Amino acid sequence: MDLFEYQARDLFAKHGVPVLDGEVIETPEAAAAVAERLGGRAVVKAQVKVGGRGKAGGVKLAADPADAVEKARAILGMDIKGHTVHKVMLAQTADIKEEYYVSFLLDRTNRTFLAMASVQGGVEIEVVAEENPEALAKISVDAVEGVTPAKAAEIVAAAKFPAEIADQVAEVLQKLWTVFIAEDALLVEVNPLVKTGDGKIIALDGKVSLDANADFRQPEHEALEDKAAANPLEAKAKEKGLNYVKLEGEVGIIGNGAGLVMSTLDVVAYAGENHGGVKPANFLDIGGGASAEVMANGLEIILGDPDVKSVFVNVFGGITACDAVANGIVQALELLSSKGEQVTKPLVVRLDGNNAELGRKILTDANHPLVQQVDTMDGAADKAAELAAAK
Ligand code: GDP
Ligand code: MN
Repeated sequence: MDLFEYQARDLFAKHGVPVLDGEVIETPEAAAAVAERLGGRAVVKAQVKVGGRGKAGGVKLAADPADAVEKARAILGMDIKGHTVHKVMLAQTADIKEEYYVSFLLDRTNRTFLAMASVQGGVEIEVVAEENPEALAKISVDAVEGVTPAKAAEIVAAAKFPAEIADQVAEVLQKLWTVFIAEDALLVEVNPLVKTGDGKIIALDGKVSLDANADFRQPEHEALEDKAAANPLEAKAKEKGLNYVKLEGEVGIIGNGAGLVMSTLDVVAYAGENHGGVKPANFLDIGGGASAEVMANGLEIILGDPDVKSVFVNVFGGITACDAVANGIVQALELLSSKGEQVTKPLVVRLDGNNAELGRKILTDANHPLVQQVDTMDGAADKAAELAAAK
């Protein structure tokens, strides 16, 4: 989960990383009192989960409270790279002398953590990495040792931070590492880390991405979720413990096992090319169990998606055999109609693997008017795409 800048700033402050005072608001009028509290002058910053806000006009300096209201009015509602600005942060202004870059991230390729640092901050770091790669120091960080004072000094030296601020930067690096570890982050980035006129080092912009796999031990992180932006179907699926991702297409997909579902998406997208370009409407992995209840939950979510015109249930029986899955489908449809849900969309079911024959017989005997079986994955994908296109 990516955080807004103000949320990253709060986490920085919690762990002692130097930041400037600020407050997030949602209406232009609210800017006056906040600017007043911050001493009159303030920087007004769009809160969107995308970089390059400065260049896009989403960061503006306000001279006084009245100006802060005007700047907030200009930025709220702005579209920055497809993200509408619903919140702005007002913060104390900084007297910037130099802008640096520092980050910690998970380096999957090398199975370690990575520190990156540059004295050429403030600009997009991808540009520095591209045009001036020697200006971006990359130092691996051992997961067990972490950022010790020696490791911090090594990062500072590699990036060639000026001597007079070396100790301060090293200390900030250790505190940022604490944020990274204590909050179970996948990325902690500061750009710019600035040196002010009076020689202080301050984190002026923060980007933090939290590891959702650690949610179970980070109860406070739930409050950081952007509920307004969450897709309602995805939120409902999450509540039911389903692995669901909403996509743009028309063919609802249910499968057991992430690998099978991924390849089902490909096969449906391919088949869809012959039927006016229909595409998969979602990813949904019901996992190994595939009980009637799980199947009902999955179907309920998919059938509740107005974009869905047909559903492809693609199951390869393994430990949970096809007859159990077939019973699950039959019971799921009964469960849904007993709950008063109108099931009106055609279902194409492909059963293969363990006890496929038996599973198919169960569906044939149930003779549900909306369910049809196709025995091959390609054939079933084609049928589902055809039905979606016909609607
Ligand atoms: P980004 O463009 O989305 O990365 O947003 P930043 O928060 O990094 O802001 C962009 C730029 O605005 C920074 O690199 C600074 O140069 C400038 N900026 C941000 N806050 C202040 C401030 O308080 N005072 C001054 N003078 N400039 C600021
Ligand atoms: Mn920035």
